[in-house]
Amino acid sequence: MIITKQKELDKILEKLKNRKNIFIVGCAACATKCATGGEDQVQALSVEMSKHGLAILGSMVLDTPCDIRVVKKDLARDDKAQKAESLVLLTCGAGVQAISSVLEDKELVPALDTMFLGTIERLGNFHQFCSLCGDCIIDETGGICPVTRCAKSLVNGPCGGALKGKCEVNSENDCAWITIYDKLKKNKTGIKKYHNIKNNAAVNKPQKVKTR
Ligand code: SF4
Ligand code: SF4
Repeated sequence: MIITKQKELDKILEKLKNRKNIFIVGCAACATKCATGGEDQVQALSVEMSKHGLAILGSMVLDTPCDIRVVKKDLARDDKAQKAESLVLLTCGAGVQAISSVLEDKELVPALDTMFLGTIERLGNFHQFCSLCGDCIIDETGGICPVTRCAKSLVNGPCGGALKGKCEVNSENDCAWITIYDKLKKNKTGIKKYHNIKNNAAVNKPQKVKTR
C-alpha cells in the first residue's frame, strides 16, 4: 500500500488563493486506509476550505485514482469536475499523474505527500519494508529485505556493529541481519548465494513496466 501524509492546510490554501470553482478528489484505496484521502478527509477539507471563503463545486472519492481507466470513467464524465477550475487531490503522486494525463486543462493541487510502499501493522502504523528495487532477493533472506531494512543496504551479511540486536546506525531499529539470521535459523534454511552489490541508484527512477 502507498503511504501518504496530508500537506499542511495553509500550503493548500496558499495555492488556491483567488480560485473559484474547486473540486476535491479522494482515494477509496490506499489514502482511505491511511486516513489521509478517504470520504471523511474529503469532507473535512471541504468544510475547512469553505470556512476560508473558497467555493467548493463538489467532490468525489475515486475507487483507484491511480488507474487512468477509472479517472476516464468516473471523474472525466462528472459535470462538476468538468466545470471546476482547480482540482484538489487527496491521492498519492501516481493518482495525481493519472488525473493530470486525463484532465489536461485543470489546475491540480496535490494535497498529500507520498511517502513509501508500506506494510500495515495496524491502521496508521506502517513500515517501509520494500524500496521497490526491481531485483528482489528476499527468497534468500527469509522474506526480509536487507536493501531496505539494513541501514547500509548490505546484501551479504551484517556489518558487525549491532549492539544488543539493534542497528548501530539507528538504535530504534532491530538489526536487519540479526532478524534475517534468526528467521533462517527457525525455518532451517540458509543463504546459498553471494549477491553482487545492488545498484540502488536504480531505485525510484521513473519506469514503465509491461506485464503482459
Ligand atoms: S530486494 Fe527489497 S527492495 Fe528489492 S524488491 Fe525485494 S523487498 Fe523490495
Ligand atoms: S547494524 Fe545491522 S542493520 Fe545496522 S547497518 Fe549493520 S548490518 Fe545493517
